[in-house]
Amino acid sequence: MTRNDTLSRILVQPGNYSMVLAAAWTMVIVISILVAISSQKREMTSIAKNVARAYIDKDLLFREWVALHGGIYVPINDMTPPNPNIPRAIVPERDVTTPAGQNLTFVNPSYLTRQLYDLAQRENHVSGRITSLKPLNPSNQPDPWETAALQAFERGEQEHATVAMEGGQHSIRLMRPLLTTENCLPCHRHQGYKVGDIRGGISVKLPMDLFESSLHKQTGLIWSGHGIMWVLGLTGIYSGYRGLKRRTDERDRAEEELQRVNTLLESQATTDYLTGIINRRKFIELLEQEIREAKRYTMPLALIFFDIDHFKAVNDTFGHESGDRVLSEVATLVNAVIRETDIFARFGGEEFIILVHNNDVKTGRDLAEKIRNIIEHHEFPIERSVTCSFGVAQFYPDDTAELLIGRADEAMYAAKQSGRNRVETRCDCHSAGL
Ligand code: GH3
Ligand code: MG
Ligand code: MG
Repeated sequence: MTRNDTLSRILVQPGNYSMVLAAAWTMVIVISILVAISSQKREMTSIAKNVARAYIDKDLLFREWVALHGGIYVPINDMTPPNPNIPRAIVPERDVTTPAGQNLTFVNPSYLTRQLYDLAQRENHVSGRITSLKPLNPSNQPDPWETAALQAFERGEQEHATVAMEGGQHSIRLMRPLLTTENCLPCHRHQGYKVGDIRGGISVKLPMDLFESSLHKQTGLIWSGHGIMWVLGLTGIYSGYRGLKRRTDERDRAEEELQRVNTLLESQATTDYLTGIINRRKFIELLEQEIREAKRYTMPLALIFFDIDHFKAVNDTFGHESGDRVLSEVATLVNAVIRETDIFARFGGEEFIILVHNNDVKTGRDLAEKIRNIIEHHEFPIERSVTCSFGVAQFYPDDTAELLIGRADEAMYAAKQSGRNRVETRCDCHSAGL
């Protein structure tokens, strides 16, 4: 059996087959869960980016509105003190007092943005910044992430976004370039900016936990949906397994029954029903096999052929059933004397045959004599003694089964002729030492 055959046999077992199927199903479910969760995460990141863009768009709009008005004035208070980064040289009327005596200070787009971001940070943890590689206000110095983003804008990128772990929580940071417009020049012309130049960037940072609760909900749905599918699949596989097992059990039982009947038929075809020893057909098959081996290994063989004397008279006097018992007892007596390697068969009616394995004719003759003696002195269930006549033949290297049996039969016939209850031998008697 090849390795592939063994593997197929193992897989074909309903239990193993179903286990493999269940493992494959579990794997499909796990992969599907991983794919669904990772796509949900991608979806969440994309929503987070859109929200961040919306924040920036709104802030840009405010900035633009303020810039369109060239700046606005608001009352001075703790939250909005005069901005020292707006030099009086550029905005001479940075701080003004209304005729009613209210003190107002000038708010430009950058100051507005900072104010809005401070407010947003306090209200909902969204923080934002404007920054530049050349800031007017030193507090607008870029951090390393912002520096990388600003450099990327100078290379032509339109947007820079990352999700990163900061302060123990995931946040999305998104930055867009701030382009110089006419309205920017009053404050920034002295830095050398022209309309269209990238003057800096505007960025927001949103904590991801704003979106993660929805992700958790989705993940819960993914798990429970897949869990139900997994259980349904396993139930299907289990019921398939039960059906398959029932059918394979039935098939195995049918195969066993077939095997049993075949063995019985084989045994009936090769065994003699009365004595339980093998029959003539099987004996000839085994004899031919032994002859082949004897020729190959130059092994000696001897054949004993014997026939019950006046058996017809036994039947006639004591009945056929008594005759059957005699036949059966003869077989039992012989079986007790011969070796396991010898082959003993009922050759026909009241004739028996023994192949004496790996022994010469002298041993065969001694064995025949021993059996003759045992039978002669055995008490059979009839009121007379039973004797047999024996013919022993020596195996010759060019023998066939037919020739060897023929010579043993001939010797047995000679024993009958010489008065029965005796052993006759057919051999090269000088070399056999007889
Ligand atoms: P001989 O000494 O010359 O062999 O004489 P015999 O009577 O033994 O030989 P014969 O061939 O005349 O008779 C053999 C008898 O064996 C005839 C037959 O009824 C009987 N016989 C053959 N098979 C069976 C069997 O299975 N059971 C019984 N009871 N008798 C059988
Ligand atoms: Mg006879
Ligand atoms: Mg006979």
